[in-house]
This record gives sequence, structure tokens and C-alpha cells, in this order.
Amino acid sequence: TEKTATLPDAAPRSAELFTRARAALPGGVNSPVRGYGSVGGTPRFLVSARGPYVTDADGREYVDLVCSWGPMILGHAHPAVVEAVQQAAARGLSFGAPTPGETDLAEEILRRVPAADRVRLVSTGTEATMTAVRLARGATGRDLIVKFAGCYHGHVDSLLAQAGSGVATLALPGSAGVTAATAAETIVLPYNDLAAVEAVFAERGDQIAAVIIEASPANMGVVPPLPGFNAGLSRIARAHGALLIQDEVLTGFRVGPSGWWGLEGSVEGWAPDLFTFGKVVGGGLPVAAIAGPAALMERLAPLGPVYQAGTLSGNPVATAAGLATLRAADAGVYARMDDVALQLGEAVSAALAAEGVAHRIQRAGNLFSVFFGDDAARVGVPDFAAAQAQDVFRHAPFFHAMLAGGVNLPPSVFEAWFVSAAHDDAALDRVLSALPAAARAAAA
Ligand code: PLP
Repeated sequence: TEKTATLPDAAPRSAELFTRARAALPGGVNSPVRGYGSVGGTPRFLVSARGPYVTDADGREYVDLVCSWGPMILGHAHPAVVEAVQQAAARGLSFGAPTPGETDLAEEILRRVPAADRVRLVSTGTEATMTAVRLARGATGRDLIVKFAGCYHGHVDSLLAQAGSGVATLALPGSAGVTAATAAETIVLPYNDLAAVEAVFAERGDQIAAVIIEASPANMGVVPPLPGFNAGLSRIARAHGALLIQDEVLTGFRVGPSGWWGLEGSVEGWAPDLFTFGKVVGGGLPVAAIAGPAALMERLAPLGPVYQAGTLSGNPVATAAGLATLRAADAGVYARMDDVALQLGEAVSAALAAEGVAHRIQRAGNLFSVFFGDDAARVGVPDFAAAQAQDVFRHAPFFHAMLAGGVNLPPSVFEAWFVSAAHDDAALDRVLSALPAAARAAAA
């Protein structure tokens, strides 16, 4: 927008690096939202990070509320994690053979999620959801997948339709390059609408392999499931012989010691058929996982006919980072994240209210995001249509004012804010002091 284009360029070194990057990388980035497309201006090139702070190439420090889009629950460069990585690296980077650390990490995941009893480690959340979908199809002998508009499950062909995250940020309906045949195997329904799910199952229930959900969606902004929604999905899927895949790539081991399932399914007494995890399970290095009951998981190769493999799957350095992160993530870590998220959300809301900016903060555990606009403020945001109907234009000026005030927010309104246990009171104070100017910018 004009407003962002006329901002003083406070980042000459980043600007220079971005020019070079664009001549070498499409858009200068390796993941779209990093390019600041929806907020304008120069993406900050980061060179180091510690605790709650990141430092850019111009030497400016920011309080980080992106946290690598989720993994860094302990903050950046946590000493125990860095040490575990250094020790693992010194023993060798990759063997292409079983290693003790893979079992250690799998056992840690299973200890936290007793609803699963086998884990397959992969390298990215995308691989995890792709494999879970293949496994569901292999196990049921059916083709169709049900997903929800605004839910993002990585860049799997069949899961890009009406996805959140960068797909939403760039206002894309899906992606070029996905065949019509693939798209036809995905049924996209409005989120939080159990009646729509009932209707689709009544019609095509015997062709549906799986329903895939974000355990609590955070890629269209934070849109938590209505009470009973996830349990209802589990019930409907089961009644029709379909599987429920609960994607906890983002929520897993971030919103609580046992992920979203620990806050909801385990309390209500039900479990999905398959879980996917990512982000936190790698502690900042590439690890993700599929988990579920043995009878289902053992349909994976080498025991079963559903193929999955990876040169770097269960990489020893990456699994060391994940294990060290999970082992350090005790009750105090979760309590601090909850507290930080609560304080921040309240402060953001107060600052916006003081400037008369209609908004709503939505929360799911320690995840939260801001929705701008009268409708959002009045009735809340239960689905993707409502998320898209917000005053999207208020985010860019808000984002840039926060950046100028030393706070690194997600450069998209369709993302959650991520906190860590390293966000101490000094970091919080810096965010609070940046808020009034940002709220004024959002009001303009
Ligand atoms: N599933 C969810 C819920 C996610 O939030 C993401 C990433 O943001 C993914 C899957 C994909 O994970 P990755 O980016 O590691 O491929």
C-alpha cells in the first residue's frame, strides 16, 4: 500500500540483501510469507537470535513474536538445545541408519500422547500430513479427504485447496500445478460447521478415507473449534469407517505438554486415529512426526504396504534438538507461555480499544491473534469466511509500527502470534511500549 511504501527504510543492509536474494531466489525467499508481500517494505534479514530477541543484518534487535512460526517454545538458542545439537553434530551429521536418539524422541512423544503407540519421524509437517493422508487411504481403501477452509496442512497437493497461512495471505484459491483429479479428491467444508460434515458423510460417507483438521486452527488467524466440534468429527468419521487425522504440527507440544489433544480430547475421553506433529518436535531443526495406534501405524513400510521413506528422516542432529526441547519443556515453561500470551493479548486489546479500533482477540491456549473490524468484534470469527471479511488493511500499518518499535510480528494477519517461555518481563515491556503507536497506525 502507499502507506507502507512511503515508510522510511530503516533497514539498509536488509534492503541490500533482499536485492541480492531476489536475483538468486524466487521472491528472495524460501517460504512465501517471509517476503512481506502483504505488508510491504523490506523483509528483515535475521542474523542471530537469543531468548525472546532476534537481531537483523542492520544490528537492530526485535522482540520476536514469530518464534520460527512455532518451534521455539524455549526461546532462541536455548543453552540445553544448542549443547545437545553441538554434541550430536560432533558425533556425525547423518548416518542413514537407525540411531538411539530416534527412539528417545519417539518415546518422549508417546509418553506425552498416550493415545498413540507408534511414531514415524519425518522432516517437515508437510511430509507428516502427506503421509497421514496416504496411510488413511491405504488403510481404508478409499480416496476422498475432507478438509476445512482456512486450515493449512503444508503444501501437499491435495491439501492446498482453500488453505490458510501463506495461501490465504496471498489471496490464492489453492495452487497452480494441482491437477483437477487431485483437487476433486478433496472436499472442502466450512470450519466449525458440523451439519455440513454430517451432510457430506450422508451422501458420500463410504468414499471418504479421512477428515483432516487443524487441532485448533491457527493459520487463518486463531479460530478455535466450538465445543464439541472435534469430538463430533471423531464420532461422524468413526460411524462411517473413515479416519480422523488431527494435525498438531502447530499446536503439538506448544499449547500444552500433550498438545491440543491434552487440553481437549484427553479430557473429553476421545482420540483421533492419527496425529501429525512438527515444529516443536524438532526444536528449530527439521523434524516432524505421524503418530497413532500400532494397528494403523504398522501399515507403513517396512511392515505394511503404505510406503514412506526419507534420507534425512530421524536425522540425529535434528532429533537431538527436538528431544532437548521437549525435555526442557516442563510445567513452568507452559505456565510462562500461557501467562505471556494472556498479558500480551490483553495489552493489545487495550491499546486498540484506546484508539477506537474495533477488533477481537481470539485465543487457543497460548496461541492468539487479532481480528480487525466491527463484525469480528461483535460476533467473533468462527470460520475462514469471517476471517477474510475482517479489516485486513489495518494489519500492515500496525505491523510496521510494531516493527519500528522493535517488535517482530507475523507479517500476515492470517497467522497466530507465537510466544516463548523466554519472553521475560523486559521483553514484554518492550512490546507494551510499542503498542500505543501501532494502535494509532491501525486506527488511521
Ligand atoms: N500443518 C500445520 C497445522 C501447520 O501449521 C504447518 C506449517 O505451518 C504444516 C502442517 C506444514 O509444516 P511444514 O511447514 O513443516 O511443512
